[in-house]
Amino acid sequence: MIGADSLVPLDDGRRVPYANLDYAASAPCLEAVHEAVTRALPYYSSVHRGAGHASQVTTEAYENARETVRGFLGAWRRAAVVFTRNTTDAMNLLAHAVPPGTTVVTFETEHHASLLPWRRPVRLPAPATPAEAVALADRALAAAPTGPRLLVVTAASNVTGELWPIGELARVARGHGARIAVDAAQLVPHRPLDMTALDLDYVAFSGHKLYAPFGAGVLAGRADWLRAAEPYLKGGGASASVTSTVRWASSAEQRHEAGTPNVLGAIALAAACEALAPHWSDLAAHEERLLTRLRTGLAAIPGVRELTLWGGGPRVGIVSFTVDGLAAREVSLALSARHGIGVRDGKFCAHPFVRHLLSADGATGDGSAVRASFGVGTTTGHIDRLLAALTRLTSELS
Ligand code: PLP
Repeated sequence: MIGADSLVPLDDGRRVPYANLDYAASAPCLEAVHEAVTRALPYYSSVHRGAGHASQVTTEAYENARETVRGFLGAWRRAAVVFTRNTTDAMNLLAHAVPPGTTVVTFETEHHASLLPWRRPVRLPAPATPAEAVALADRALAAAPTGPRLLVVTAASNVTGELWPIGELARVARGHGARIAVDAAQLVPHRPLDMTALDLDYVAFSGHKLYAPFGAGVLAGRADWLRAAEPYLKGGGASASVTSTVRWASSAEQRHEAGTPNVLGAIALAAACEALAPHWSDLAAHEERLLTRLRTGLAAIPGVRELTLWGGGPRVGIVSFTVDGLAAREVSLALSARHGIGVRDGKFCAHPFVRHLLSADGATGDGSAVRASFGVGTTTGHIDRLLAALTRLTSELS
């Protein structure tokens, strides 16, 4: 883990090891990712059109990265795997490619990246249970007018960490002849995903949440809408021939990756996929232990309330909470300045969902929450430091 041992300054002048509990925003880089980028750098060159040796090596590495991502997602051989900037970009690309007249159904619990790109979507309310999520989607898709239909749903919530029943939602979508697009930004850093086994049409995720650097993401899935749509960005690479008219490239990848792509980003992202894949069960067990420790500890601190949609059920290493009598910002700043702990506060780009959770909880704060999130490099020591710091903060209030 790059930077795992960094020391950070406290307000009192001491320097302490950083407790990074903000993985859901961007996870620190894996050593394997760093090594893959270092290996690629001597051949740093533009892909696809160059004939020189470095261009050939780089092109091969870039296309291998695409195949690694295909395997990582369990995508079928002819699925499109388009490199994007991030999940937001991937979802906007899909929204751009959706045929006119498509009914898009989504939930108000989505991250804004999956909530906002659609033209007049049907927005379903936050379901009280996973079964209700399936029933709501079923009803909405049944009521949709004839024409293409797309269900958009997150696989793991960036606010509560709760896992959504994407397999069942895919079955319901298929039953209505609809497609399903899954925002897997918070799932793939924690759990394997098999698009083919789950029968998912599209998956989007970001490299920087998967222990790789910023600037590379993926939209994978059915090629037909993507191949039929005008290029998302118009320019070199997307065009097959330009005379007085333009003929766009027919492959989904070429058509929607105009300009010089983020080759190192793609190589880094693929290296993260390769590094994580052999370790899923260890990682899940590690996170489960940390989750239990954190949630049990939070429940024991007076005035701290965890935000949860469904209470129990499977989840990844993301926990949001409020502290009675303190604004979320005050909590996160105090954790940083006095304890060297990095968490996030706010509405996590999921305003309707956070509003729903806070109103259901009867919280009286500033409409924001604090989020602790973790992964590969997190230790029980980090969790215990957070719990001790929160205990201290809340005791100072009484
Ligand atoms: N979807 C979810 C569930 C997220 O948590 C995030 C980022 O927090 C996004 C989408 C957007 O990711 P990016 O900012 O990399 O586009």
